[in-house]
Amino acid sequence: MERISERVETRPVAEYGNWHRLGIAEAIEGLGTSLRGLSTQEAESRMKKFGPNALRRKRKRSALTLFAGQFRDFMVLILIVAAAISAVIGNLTDTIIIMAIALLNAILGFFHEYKADRAVEELRKLAEPWTNVIRDGQIREIASTGLVPGDLVLLETGTIVPADLRLCEIHSLRIGEASLTGESAPVDKVTKPIGNAHTAIGDRLNMAYKGTVVVFGRGRGIAVRTGMNTEIGRISGLLQEKAVPTPLQRRMAEVGKRLAYVVVIVCVLLFGIGIMRGEEPVRVLLVALSLAVAAIPEALPAVTAISMAIGARRLVRKNALIRRLPAVETLGAVSFICTDKTGTLTQNKMTVESISPYAAPLSLHSALDPLECAMLLNNDTRLSSEGTWKGDPTEIALVEHIGKRYSTDIILQLRTSLPRLAEIPFDAERKCMTTIHPLGAGYVALSKGASEVIAAKLAKEYDRNEILGQAGDMAAGGCRVLAFAYRLLQQLPEDAAAFGDVEEDLKYIGLVGLIDPPRPEVKKAIHDCTTAGIHPVMITGDHVKTATAIARQLDMLPGDNKVVTGEQLAAMPQADLGQMVEKISVYARVSPEQKLRIVRTLQGKGHFVAMTGDGVNDAPSLKAANIGIAMGRAGTDVSREAADMILMDDNFATIVNAIKEGRRIYDNIRKFFKYIMTCNSAEILTVFMAPLLGLPIPLLPVQLLWINLVTDGLPALALASERAEPDIMTRPPRQAAESLFSAGLGWHIARIGLLMAAVTLGTQAFATGAGFPRTQTMVFTVLSLSQLGHVLAIRSDHEFIFRQRISSNLPLYGALFLTFLLQMAVIYIPFCNALFRTQPLSLAELLTCLALSSIVFHAVEVEKWVHKKRSGFKTNVL
Ligand code: ATP
Repeated sequence: MERISERVETRPVAEYGNWHRLGIAEAIEGLGTSLRGLSTQEAESRMKKFGPNALRRKRKRSALTLFAGQFRDFMVLILIVAAAISAVIGNLTDTIIIMAIALLNAILGFFHEYKADRAVEELRKLAEPWTNVIRDGQIREIASTGLVPGDLVLLETGTIVPADLRLCEIHSLRIGEASLTGESAPVDKVTKPIGNAHTAIGDRLNMAYKGTVVVFGRGRGIAVRTGMNTEIGRISGLLQEKAVPTPLQRRMAEVGKRLAYVVVIVCVLLFGIGIMRGEEPVRVLLVALSLAVAAIPEALPAVTAISMAIGARRLVRKNALIRRLPAVETLGAVSFICTDKTGTLTQNKMTVESISPYAAPLSLHSALDPLECAMLLNNDTRLSSEGTWKGDPTEIALVEHIGKRYSTDIILQLRTSLPRLAEIPFDAERKCMTTIHPLGAGYVALSKGASEVIAAKLAKEYDRNEILGQAGDMAAGGCRVLAFAYRLLQQLPEDAAAFGDVEEDLKYIGLVGLIDPPRPEVKKAIHDCTTAGIHPVMITGDHVKTATAIARQLDMLPGDNKVVTGEQLAAMPQADLGQMVEKISVYARVSPEQKLRIVRTLQGKGHFVAMTGDGVNDAPSLKAANIGIAMGRAGTDVSREAADMILMDDNFATIVNAIKEGRRIYDNIRKFFKYIMTCNSAEILTVFMAPLLGLPIPLLPVQLLWINLVTDGLPALALASERAEPDIMTRPPRQAAESLFSAGLGWHIARIGLLMAAVTLGTQAFATGAGFPRTQTMVFTVLSLSQLGHVLAIRSDHEFIFRQRISSNLPLYGALFLTFLLQMAVIYIPFCNALFRTQPLSLAELLTCLALSSIVFHAVEVEKWVHKKRSGFKTNVL
């Protein structure tokens, strides 16, 4: 038999497709591997030969394309036209300086976009999936990209198959292959060889293909092809990833476009008025063009994207991994968090709290009673090389409990003497699982699951109500309760259909109660939610009493809020749910499908919903939620793929932190929006009003462009680093569809823009009237510095500047200082004087400029004071 390496080198690609025809042993031999997996060394050498197991992406934008892209901007084109006009009228200095400004603009834009691209790329890498493989005979978790042909891969419910696999072990394994074959019904898999070379992909039942989804059961398979050699790799070609603008970016672009129309009209009017006043047409045209460039806020969408990308990077440090960038901006609008209980609100560190065996006539071991045996046998935990148990925390608790009284050897010996021959795996929908073991001449099926589920499957002789009552008492203390039962079988069920009967007419073995304490930080996080106007809701598969007890411990069930079970929910008409939904704090024993209904109903009431989920069936509700949140540790690939955000520590408190961060980022985006829009309107008003007031055009084109470069540049971006406002988590969430101009922002722009223009024009009128020789330089300086004063004042929406520490936003002070120095350079360095037609100001003039330009700063501080007074007044009155 040939080995894979020879195959790959000597055979054409079309012939690789025959793995389904081989028996498991042949496939293993052909791939040069074994059931102990590859050795690390062999895997490394294969990695060199086959490369990473990844679908190739379309090449990212290279730095050069990114840079060239900056010149495709409409504004840059206008600048080039302006430079050309200057050249035509013989003003070469202006041409050079306009071109230099265009270049500087492009460089700044390039750096910003490059930084944002890098942040997004980093996030993508972090979100790459992991796979369980067997290497050197041990289970290892490796990045899926590290898989090589011959690796033995473990599959479980919710796994996205990481490579093309020849299956060698299956337990009720069912795979959804819609992504590959378009067939929506999941396929039951087999391990025996099948078909011929022409068997269609969808019929190769012993294969699992990269990108398909394990919807039920578990299994193992040997990787036969990886990366671009997989079926999906061959048909999909290169992965295209289009950067879609976020809703906020789209709204920014929309506002920018509308403002552009206004600016164009103003510029045309300005040109007309200038001509009527007998000014030189070309000069007026240049001013009009420069005004267009300065006043159109073309940088807004880009700066928004950058601050979100940087925000996403900060969120990673807080354990929240953003998979889709718009989630950063929408986090701040969340009004309901629907969260799982186990692992998110609780620690997922279970311990057996109480145990209630029933005298069952079953003997499985000489020392262990039937309940203990069932706890060990109906259990997927594995002993790691370090001697600890690995697997589902609920099941670990069961083995560890018995491990306290018996040695590990006894446990392992029991498992070897009664090996698992078949199983119906656990799934959140059915809430139970069954394993089948040999017993004497026949078999025993051991079932465990939620108490109601097992009770419903018990033989008639048992008093179900008594068992449920006992389980209810255990649950009322906050315990998760598992019921155990068995059934003797004459023969093994042959196919999947026959498995169903195994879980009927069961004999009772007993109950086990497990406690899973709440995470200590969650109580405060719940409290923070409440003050921030966010409703936390628990949605759990657990018993209603367990859920209620935990909710009470966490103060999640205030006043008249309600607890609803899945059963009640199923019977509840939609209209009633609509009426109640805002008052329900706990949903217990719900199935993943019902989560979708809850999300939709809340959204129907105008809420913005964050929803957590970890299972394969949670994917639809994660997609439907405004923010779908998956678990980094306990979640399935499928849920992670469907989510907008991944909690790297599975912790509820992380969601609340992320919301806080999301609110901060949105606040800061609004701040630079406020800043840029106010500055731009001041520029328009200044240049437009001057001729109407009988004043000459106050600023030269290069001066306007300078102001634009300076304002749209450093200080605006530094606002994105602003810390959270003190009231960030004491105010209600913003409305998702809220206008960018809401909460008085539009008025601020109009008021302060007008004031800034008035101060500038006032300076011009005063200086002209008083016969100052350096009027234009003064006007130029006042407008520039007023903008710096403005940025300083709007650091906080409500807090006075003296309440803010400089250290809390050093980049902003750095940017301000630099911009101030640059402005001084433009005024005082002779070379710059020539370029910008400025003249050095005397000390008195400079101080006058400083005093005048601080008016805007003071006005914004007074605005805050008035606002504080007014809201204080309102609260007093109420
Ligand atoms: P939450 O949604 O709060 O995270 P959960 O997802 O942990 O809860 P499930 O895992 O769906 O809830 O469990 C639901 C019920 O199924 C549990 O109350 C328990 O009775 C039962 N159960 C949980 N794990 C197992 C298991 N490994 N074997 C059998 N039954 C189980």
